[in-house]
Formats: sequence, C-alpha cells, structure tokens
Amino acid sequence: MKRLFRRLLRGVGLAAASALVLSLATAAGDPHPLATAPAGPPDATAPTERVGALHVHTRASDGGGTLDDVAEAALDAGLDFVAVTDHHARPLTTPARRAGVLLVVGEELRVPDGHVVVLGGAATGAPELRIAAHPEGPTRPWRGAGRAGFDALEVWNWDSDWRDDGLRDWAGALALLMWKPEAAMLRLIDRPAASLERWDALLTEGEPVPGLCAVDAHQRVTLGAAGALPFPRYRDLFRLARMHVWLDDDAPRAPVDEAAAVVEALRRGRAFCAFDARADSRGTRVWAAGPGGTAGPGQTLVWSDPPPTLSVRVPDPGKPVEIVVVRAGEGPVHRVPGPEALALPLPGPGVYRVEVSLLRGRRAVPWILTNPLRIVEAGPEG
Ligand SMILES: [Zn+2]
Ligand SMILES: [Zn+2]
Repeated sequence: MKRLFRRLLRGVGLAAASALVLSLATAAGDPHPLATAPAGPPDATAPTERVGALHVHTRASDGGGTLDDVAEAALDAGLDFVAVTDHHARPLTTPARRAGVLLVVGEELRVPDGHVVVLGGAATGAPELRIAAHPEGPTRPWRGAGRAGFDALEVWNWDSDWRDDGLRDWAGALALLMWKPEAAMLRLIDRPAASLERWDALLTEGEPVPGLCAVDAHQRVTLGAAGALPFPRYRDLFRLARMHVWLDDDAPRAPVDEAAAVVEALRRGRAFCAFDARADSRGTRVWAAGPGGTAGPGQTLVWSDPPPTLSVRVPDPGKPVEIVVVRAGEGPVHRVPGPEALALPLPGPGVYRVEVSLLRGRRAVPWILTNPLRIVEAGPEG
C-alpha cells in the first residue's frame, strides 16, 4: 500500500500537467447510457438475471464503510446483491436484505496458496464456494498449481488491475477522477490476459471452473500516518464491474434461499461478468443449439451431426463491438466485428466461452466475459 501511494503521489504532478489534455479525451471514456436488450434465446438457457458485486470489504476488516454503506451504494448502483467478504471476519452471519439489496455472506481467508474468498458455509443455507482471489495479483498471487483448493477463479479483480498500470495510466486516471470517477476507473481496466490464460488451461481438464469478476472493494486507501481516503467508492465500483447470474426462476425467496440460489448459480457457472460502466450488458445471451437440445453458460450439450451452432446476443451498446469465441486450449476460434447475432457452427466438442469487447479506434477494451458452456462427445449410452 505504501508503494502504491508513493506512486500515486508521484503521479499527482504529472496528472496536473496532463489534466488539460486529458479533459479533451474525456468524451471517449464516457459511460454509455443504458441500451435496451434484444430478444433472447429459448428461456431455458437464461431464465432470470440478477446483478451483483463480489468481494467487498467493510470496517469489519480493512474496508472503509459499514454494511449499510455497502447496501446503500449497491442500491444506488442498481445491484440486486453484494457478497460481503471481509478478511477473517463475518460482520453478518446470515444473508439479509438491506435497502432492498441482498447481502450474501462470505469471508476472505489467507491460506498457504494465497487468498481464498469463501461464499456460503455455516448458517448461510449454501455449501461453501471457494474462489481463488486475485490469482495474478501483484501482492498476493495464487501460488497453487492446477485446480486444487478452489471451486472458482477470480479472472478479474479490480484491486489487482489498478495496481499493475503504468504511471501514464495513473496520471490520466487521477486527472479524470476529479470529474468522472467511472471514466477514470474504466481507463485502468485491461483485459486480464494472464488470468484468462490460467482459466483456459483449467478449462481443458475436467469439469469447467467458473470464472468470476471481483471488485475487491474497500472504499479506503491508507495514507500511513496521514490517515485514509474513502477511495475508490463502493458506488463507483458497483457500477464498474458486475456479476450477472441466471437463476432458474423468478420466485420470491427469503434472503437465505435467494443467497443460496446466487451462490449455486456462481458454482455452476450460470453467470457472466461485465464492465457495465461501459454499457449495460443486462440481457446478454450465449447459447449452443443442436439436435441434442440447447445449452447456455454452465450447461452441457452433446456433440451432434450436424454440429451445434453457437449464438451470442448482446444489447446494442451504441459503439462498435467485437465478439470473440474462445475454445479452451485453442484460443479464439471465431472473431466477428459488430453486435449482430452469431450462429457459428462449432468445430468440435470442447469448452467454449465468449469475450465481447468495445472497439475504440484500433483498441479493443473488454466489456463482457461469459462463463463457458461445454460440448461433450456422446457417451456409450448415447
Ligand atoms: Zn486478498
Ligand atoms: Zn479482498
């Protein structure tokens, strides 16, 4: 943290100098207003969407706000749920609704391999879901090999992402921060290439490991003896990066049951993550369809002849879009500019996931990362 702040303070001088230039570029970083979702695929692949934030710290550990601050910020940002995960502490023992927002109970633990975020567990109504936190983080990377010790992987973590940026990005972000915190934070978001590479390697073996995005929100930056700043704010992070989960139905549930359903959807990979401050991704759909039926992220379809086709639909963000279909172990198998629906005949059995980026000039900035769906060979019993 000290190192970070030396960097930050050094950046301030540069930031002031570059403020004028950068303010001219602000328009490019503007979050786009909400777009409307096009019609989706068969309902079976994505029935009910809930939107939330994972990995949030409060004053129970090194965060700067209370549970009420978190709930109000989440309400403000339009979230349905937040997973509160303090370091070795649970300010809440059972899931609850505050300000209309579901608070999912969890904890962040230090283990020999790194940090693991645990959702569910005792008194929460859900079995434990163990998530390897900030696997490529500059301070506490995940040191374990393979998939031992966790059920899911943070493929993107805000706290890791903003620390690995160069001074130039930092200076720009600081200059923007005064006027447009969201745009400033968006500037710092990169495609998490190393974590995606780790994820794809895991996806080639056995049951797919869900990939999740975590805000790792603290709303607190320490300044050593000078105290602390309430930055970056919960509200801005909750608008920035969100997990979208699909529940099987829209039934009203008690908080403990709703939290269990959210954790279960994450465990099954019935989810995608999106940098919604770029454009609202609600209504995004990915599905494979063939003679064997239909499957979305977190689901499995049997290979067939003719081959199943993969479709992707995203809400129109009002900007150029690039859709990339990734086959684990092989990399991109299809890349298409434009938000039009795909109907890609799949090249063979495998694990497929989708990345959607917004094109800014020649640069593709990440927008949506979906969990994979799996196409398997027909078994001996068909
Ligand atoms: Zn951590
Ligand atoms: Zn954390």
